[in-house]
Amino acid sequence: MTVVTRTAPSPTGFLHLGHAYSALFAFEAARAAGGRFLLRIEDIDAARCRPEFEQAIAEDLAWLGLAWETPVRRQSEHLAEYAAAVERLRGLGLVYPCFCTRAEIAQATSAPHGPDGPVYPGTCRALDDAERQRRLESGAAYALRLDMAAARARRGALEWRDRAHGIVTATPEVFGDVVIARKDTPTSYHLSVTLDDALQGVTLVTRGLDLFASTHVHRLLQALLGLATPDYHHHPLVLGPDGKRLAKRANAPTLQSLREAGHSPAEVRQMALDALGP
Ligand code: GLU
Repeated sequence: MTVVTRTAPSPTGFLHLGHAYSALFAFEAARAAGGRFLLRIEDIDAARCRPEFEQAIAEDLAWLGLAWETPVRRQSEHLAEYAAAVERLRGLGLVYPCFCTRAEIAQATSAPHGPDGPVYPGTCRALDDAERQRRLESGAAYALRLDMAAARARRGALEWRDRAHGIVTATPEVFGDVVIARKDTPTSYHLSVTLDDALQGVTLVTRGLDLFASTHVHRLLQALLGLATPDYHHHPLVLGPDGKRLAKRANAPTLQSLREAGHSPAEVRQMALDALGP
């Protein structure tokens, strides 16, 4: 089987050493196996994505020495495919609209904490059909949530193979009823990443440890939507001098600034390796 890997940045800022390491890791994994390497642009967050960031992603990755297949899949061009997947889940009776605001959820003191923040207490799961209809017709904003208990009841034990962590048993229930789409965006990170990896025939998903927890949800979505499960390799994160993971909005030097300061791709690669966390 041909190994297919990908890097899937979001054009919400300029790339930093963490992105460089992750992209190089995926590229090398494909090359070592004589496989294929893809670039995917994860731009469903229209409010935060900008064309100049997408342009910079291509420039930075090419400068690092990466080459990828074209055409590049851009998620914003595939919203109908995500909407169809949401419809399939809805058809299984696993999706409901949630009208709660973030503040309301945060205030629900009974909410335990999950990997993504407070676990949704399920308030809108209990709405009756008439009330649901009334709120939808009022034009209120809503999120579509997966009824996790119902989804889990359909699917038994789930596992994935992780090259860094062995066989992992998926426990998506710790996320509670995750958001899989919104009124104005017919998808979410969890849904589109899972669908795209399957549609693009990705056989090995390589990404940072910060996304390890999300894989529990992705494994469940694969089972519900009848998608193949790739192998995973969650690699350590590149850390800043303060020992914390780099973040686009914090003070991580961009690849552009390192390039402008005269560093070579080989030096940037070494910097990323030297700053790799455990
Ligand atoms: N788009 C995600 C990010 O920029 C990465 C998705 C993934 O690798 O699964 O953090």
